[in-house]
Amino acid sequence: MSDLFDLTGRRVVITGGTSGIGLSAAQAFLEGGARVVISGRSNERGEAALGHLADKGDVWFCAADASDEADAERLAETAKAHMGGVDTIVCAAGINRRGAPQDLSLADWDAVMDSNLRGTFVTARAFYPQLCQSGDGRIVTIGSMMSVLANDMTAPYAAAKGGVVQLTRSLAAAWAGDGIRANCVLPGWVDTPLTRQARLDMPDLDARVRDRTPVGRWATPQDIAGTILFLTTAASRIVTGTAIPVDGGFVMRA
Ligand code: NAD
Repeated sequence: MSDLFDLTGRRVVITGGTSGIGLSAAQAFLEGGARVVISGRSNERGEAALGHLADKGDVWFCAADASDEADAERLAETAKAHMGGVDTIVCAAGINRRGAPQDLSLADWDAVMDSNLRGTFVTARAFYPQLCQSGDGRIVTIGSMMSVLANDMTAPYAAAKGGVVQLTRSLAAAWAGDGIRANCVLPGWVDTPLTRQARLDMPDLDARVRDRTPVGRWATPQDIAGTILFLTTAASRIVTGTAIPVDGGFVMRA
């Protein structure tokens, strides 16, 4: 029973690991005894994140754009050099561009699709050989309640996050025979840099989120990390191809 949640020695890579949900998951993995490589596009944020995590365990940073094929290959090689291989990837890199569909540019569309959807595919594909070698590979992707709900102002984001769920299911189906499980986490409203601009743009957002969310508060990044970890342990060994809301009941409320 006690081994069900054991993370000792697991070798983990987290894209978008320098901020928000990815950074919080990195800390939780380290505290559970895993080794972790975090990636992101900014060296400065990477150094700051390492400063935050250094006393928690073995952790490295690799600058990489999750949607860039060459960067993803380099990240995979770097992780292998540091940890000897990779058992778990968490695809947390993501951005949002808000606006009515008719006002958004193709550059907005491409940026959101690239970081969220293409980035998840490119990363998973780059790590497939190492996840196979592990014999016990885990993929956790990050969708959103926008994977299942619609909103006037987030068409590219909702399209990308809906795609992340279907991509995750497809990977789970294709790679189950390789011992790889793939699952998606659907966070509700989480207090991170990603949502801070939305709160500045919409002064009533905070009150609306609290009213609409049955538990009556925003999630913290730590609230999301627990489910991410669960999906990588033996406790979830028969769970694959799922998309799990972690949203304080937001999506279930009529
Ligand atoms: P965040 O902005 O704190 O962290 C996201 C990180 O990903 C940032 O460091 C960003 O620079 C990085 N990133 C973006 N595109 C990248 C790319 N192409 N390559 C490498 N790094 C890239 O935001 P967060 O809230 O922690 O978001 C983490 C994930 O959770 C995202 O996929 C986001 O869409 C998702 N999510 C967040 C919320 C929320 O309310 N905050 C809700 C649902 C889903």
